[in-house]
Amino acid sequence: MTRERLPASISLDLDNLWSYLKTHGNEEWRTRPTYLPEFAPVILNLLDDLGLKITFFVVGLDADRDENLDAIRSLATAGHEIGNHSYEHEPWLHRYSPPAIEDELERTELAIERVAGRRPRAFRGPGYSWSPALLSALARRDYVLDASTLPTWIGPLARSYYFASAKLTPAQREERAALFGAWGNARWPNTPYHWTLDGGRRLLEIPVTVFPGLRTPFHFSYLLWLSRYSERVMWTYLHSALAWCRRTGTEPSILLHPLDALGPDVSPALRFFPGMDLRTDRKVALLRRVLQTIAEGFTPLTMEAHAASLALRPRLGARAATSTDAPRLSPTAA
Ligand SMILES: [Zn+2]
Repeated sequence: MTRERLPASISLDLDNLWSYLKTHGNEEWRTRPTYLPEFAPVILNLLDDLGLKITFFVVGLDADRDENLDAIRSLATAGHEIGNHSYEHEPWLHRYSPPAIEDELERTELAIERVAGRRPRAFRGPGYSWSPALLSALARRDYVLDASTLPTWIGPLARSYYFASAKLTPAQREERAALFGAWGNARWPNTPYHWTLDGGRRLLEIPVTVFPGLRTPFHFSYLLWLSRYSERVMWTYLHSALAWCRRTGTEPSILLHPLDALGPDVSPALRFFPGMDLRTDRKVALLRRVLQTIAEGFTPLTMEAHAASLALRPRLGARAATSTDAPRLSPTAA
């Protein structure tokens, strides 16, 4: 007898070349260099081969620039979902004032609707940034879900690595002080729940899933990094993470990035990034096997389809959106 397969949502944050250069402190970002025209056919071919539909979280500014329009439109035309990944992709979005947040959301919605023909209904903050004001704005604007939380303790380690490798001024370091989160983020839920917001509104949160119990990320960027030491260790780690998801009833939400499928042959400027010693064809081959493994054990869905399936579930937890540092579990959580 086979057990019922859990759903697994798959999404890709369409971070562009310029946003990596900007985060890294490289001034070349100001000309907004793009790799989206090269990346779109690579990922579309792979997803088409595997028969997968996923959610692409698109940056508004990219959807406003002529050189990216064909690439972004091709994702929507192929039947993939387009979500909002902010307009400027600044990982300190959680520091924005409420009017600045509204502006970020609206400009991105308009840009995406122009290129993809539909307003986005799913949101993910750049660098996993979110704030109570942001969640309230999403609920007011009728978003179906937020997907900005990563409930892991490794954020400070990732930040240390980043500070050591990036060229940043003291002011830039201050802006990025909370980048990738705090140790305490590991106490956040690893399964979907509702944020309870001002005025009695609610918003569904679908966290980026981490290894249940261990609370370490297992999305492809980390797998790729592990595979550079040992592919066998990488596969053991992935199979264990997925087995623990099944055992604990955790419906995984899997996160991808363009650099999971782009190598230095397409983007030589990003050689500083972990895993960028591996060519595009080798990355695509590994990503294909990982996505096949996920699709064999779970039912792959877009983010909105995952939200729709969760809406049928009567007892999701609830959590008050108070501060990004100390979200509190509601005593009335179901
Ligand atoms: Zn991003």
